[in-house]
Parts: sequence; structure tokens; C-alpha cells
Amino acid sequence: MFCVECGKEVSKLYNGLCVKCYLKKEIFFSPPKKIDVFVCRNCGALKINKKWEKGMDEIIANFLKKYVKKGIECVEINFIPESKEVVFKGMLNDVLIEERKKIDVRVKNSLCEMCCRIKGGYFEAILQIRGEQQLTKKEIERIDDIVYENLEKKEKAFVTKREERHGGIDYYIGDKHFAADIAKMLKEIFHAEMNVSSSLAGKKDGKEVYRLTYGIRIPAYSKGSYVEIEGKLYKIEDIRKKIHLYDLTTGRGIHVYKKDMKKAKIVDTEEKEAVVLSIKEGEIEIMDPETFNAITILTPFKIKENVVKIIKWKGKAYVVQKKGN
Ligand SMILES: [Zn+2]
Ligand SMILES: [Zn+2]
Repeated sequence: MFCVECGKEVSKLYNGLCVKCYLKKEIFFSPPKKIDVFVCRNCGALKINKKWEKGMDEIIANFLKKYVKKGIECVEINFIPESKEVVFKGMLNDVLIEERKKIDVRVKNSLCEMCCRIKGGYFEAILQIRGEQQLTKKEIERIDDIVYENLEKKEKAFVTKREERHGGIDYYIGDKHFAADIAKMLKEIFHAEMNVSSSLAGKKDGKEVYRLTYGIRIPAYSKGSYVEIEGKLYKIEDIRKKIHLYDLTTGRGIHVYKKDMKKAKIVDTEEKEAVVLSIKEGEIEIMDPETFNAITILTPFKIKENVVKIIKWKGKAYVVQKKGN
């Protein structure tokens, strides 16, 4: 076979031409001269086609893939903003093709779908987080961290509104799946109770649209808390299906159901270390770490340590230590 252009004898022809002549004549990449990129003025998201995305150079490169001639393998498309140039590299069988094209990228101001929704107050679910007692600052911080850190991982989720109400927080969430995930997460982390309710929000395309409310009730106690139940003092050792309590008077552990904790009152106290002055069967004498007076504490078992952890409650001191510790 001979090339009609240069007359060279070759084993394969492209449109009657040898590879060399074919590459000279043919255009393999024909991008448009101008493309419009819409930029969301709120979040910086970009759109050329239908989707809002991040990363100008990648979006342009992806968009231009369809302008590569059929049958040519696209190796890479690089947009160089400084020179407003696109470099195309492709393969025709074993031959590398490179073409450079000028492209005028026009940036247009816009507002992306998500920001539109946020601005319009759109939401699909409410996370209503309450404490059995008013949530502490620390708890609120921790909940915020959980919500917003997970939000960053989800592309389509957003919080339309956050409100501190009735000692808790309401999050208005733009994605119901995200709301469900977070509700489940908070339930597990805080050993909280959860209930879900839905209300009719209106109609869309003839279909009824429901909004979900996830009510999360965070217990006032957590692992390590001290509680009073029916006049007795307990430390919460663990929270599983049941609550593991340590009775500071008897030195025994008991397990109770979460519903039994309704009658538990949180005891506001702090563990302190105290020096042991003398030890007897069933009682020790310690130096009160606040007043430096010697006080006697009844103990459910024999103490062996020279220093013990104690707490005070209603004018009485208790040894926190467990047997054998
Ligand atoms: Zn030729
Ligand atoms: Zn946006």
C-alpha cells in the first residue's frame, strides 16, 4: 500500500495516508473556542454542564473529553489557566498525538443549587437534641463537632439553621439521610434515647412531602458519673444494655435498666486523693484533703493502700476505690 500524499509504502493506511501524513492533516481534538464556567458566589462551586463541582482545572478537562475524535485514546487533557491553553495528548494505535488549543474560559457569577437551598431555608429533617438536664457547654461543643465534622465528609448535606433551644440544640438539615446517620451516631455515643416523628410539609409534584424530626434525649449521666438512687450513692462504671453501678456503701456492683435511671439524681462531686492515717477492719482514718482534719470512713472491705480516692456527699466521705485495686 502506498500513501497518496508522499508515495511511501506502508502496511497500514489511514484515509489513504501513511501515519505521518495523516497526523499532519487530521485534527483529533476540537474543543469549543469559548466555554462558560458558572461560579457559585457563596461557596465557590463550579459548573460547566449540569453538575456543581469543585476544582476548576479538573472540571474543564473532564468537560473537554467529549471533543476528542472517536477512535483516539485520550491520555490526558490539561488546562493551563495562565496561557488559556488546553494541551491534549492521545494515542492513535502506538502513535502519541499532542495538540494545543486556545480556549476562552468565561467565568460567570451564579449561585449553586445547594446554596440556593440553604438561602431559601430548605430542610428535610430536624435533629432535635435535648438533655435530660440542660446540656453542658462541653456536651454542646461535642455535638457540634460530631455534626460539622461529618458534614464535611458529605457532599450534598448541609445545615440550614442551628438553634439553641430549651437547653438543647436544633439542627435543620438539608439531607434526610445525613440526619438519620447523625441521629444514630449521637444515640450510640451518648447512650441517648431516640424517637422519630414525621409531619406533612406540603406537596411536591403531586406527592406528599414529609419532614422528619429526630428527637435525641441525652441522659444527664455518663460513665464515671455519681448518682443518687433512693438515697444511696452509686458510681456509674459502665453503660451497656444495662447500666453498671457500683454501690459505694456496700462495695458491690449492680446492673439496672436504663428506665430505672429515671429516678437517679446526678451527684455533683469530685474525686480527691487522701492520705490514709490508719487502717482497721471495716474503717480507715484519712486526712481530709480540704480541711486537713482526720476523719473516719467506713469501708466495705479492708483497705491496703496508703493513699485512697474519696468523694464527699452530704457531709460524708466515701472511698471510691474498689476491692483489690
Ligand atoms: Zn505519507
Ligand atoms: Zn454554592
